[in-house]
Amino acid sequence: MTWRFSRSHVESGTFCRYQEYLTYYWGGTGVVPTLLNMDMELGTLVHDGLARVLKSRTLDALDDCVAGALGAYRTKVPQIGFGAYSPQDQMDLGEALIRGWCYARLPYYRENYDIHVEEIERERDIPLGDDIELMVRTDVRVTRKSDGDVFAGPEFKTTGYLNQDYLDQWQYAAQVAAELTDEESGVLLEFLYKGKRQEGRILSPLIKGKLPTVSVREHLAGLKPEVILGQFSGKEVYRSPAQVRRWLNVQKTRQEIVMSVLRTRNDGVFSAPSQDEIDEVFPPRLDSQCKSDKYHKECMFLRHCWGATSIESGLEYGIWKRRVPHHPVEAENFIV
Ligand code: SF4
Repeated sequence: MTWRFSRSHVESGTFCRYQEYLTYYWGGTGVVPTLLNMDMELGTLVHDGLARVLKSRTLDALDDCVAGALGAYRTKVPQIGFGAYSPQDQMDLGEALIRGWCYARLPYYRENYDIHVEEIERERDIPLGDDIELMVRTDVRVTRKSDGDVFAGPEFKTTGYLNQDYLDQWQYAAQVAAELTDEESGVLLEFLYKGKRQEGRILSPLIKGKLPTVSVREHLAGLKPEVILGQFSGKEVYRSPAQVRRWLNVQKTRQEIVMSVLRTRNDGVFSAPSQDEIDEVFPPRLDSQCKSDKYHKECMFLRHCWGATSIESGLEYGIWKRRVPHHPVEAENFIV
């Protein structure tokens, strides 16, 4: 039976091996926080809206696309919101980012690329040997009109940072590497600046440093074009075929080790590795990156690794819940 992993496994493991184990393998499926993540949900809302726009091929349907994405968000996100931030704040911001990107960046794509509409959110399995596959989900692919080169993207990133340091790091990101196969020349990244948080409010020039008192559409119509254009930025990331091959080889070697430790030989029932095996194959990083000031990142397992909360008690008290794999075939990983 084939062993499958995704770019999310790689990203998590690149940051911290133990986080990868807890998220993707603990108990056979891994565990995730019970509370919705505000930033992830905003990213999903924006992805959803822009995928609808690109699929519809025309801006005539923009209002319907925005309404569809907001409706899906409203269904998923409880009205209680995220602490100081209300779901309505997030929906306003998401709508502004969707409409703003269509204004600021979509014309550039239309002029320079053919968008493979039929491939939006396409899933592919890339074989890395006889029994290991990398599962790739590409948001969109495009062909550059000038030379026929194919790119993965536009890949949308909502961000609270739009400085050079932040943009440059994407050149080396595992997430970008996992987008590429022999078929693509590179990845096109699109950054949508969502502003900063301050005293319970989300500030962005896109919304003039405060949440609009009129509808987002009216508000955007009143903004100067250069203000809107300044909220969006693109970046092209290239990798040579040799770099892509090397990266895939490294992942294959890594997954062979993971597979040898995790895959049970016990009638298809997952059996947890020993503590020694975990520490050897999934060592915790246990350093200041667990809670980093840079980009305000805090690991979801902080209270487990640095506190006294076991994963079992966290499940019992509703801090974490068992993960449902995005890729259903992942469930076959532990069947041999
Ligand atoms: S808290 Fe630190 S060591 Fe623990 S899983 Fe997160 S990043 Fe890894």
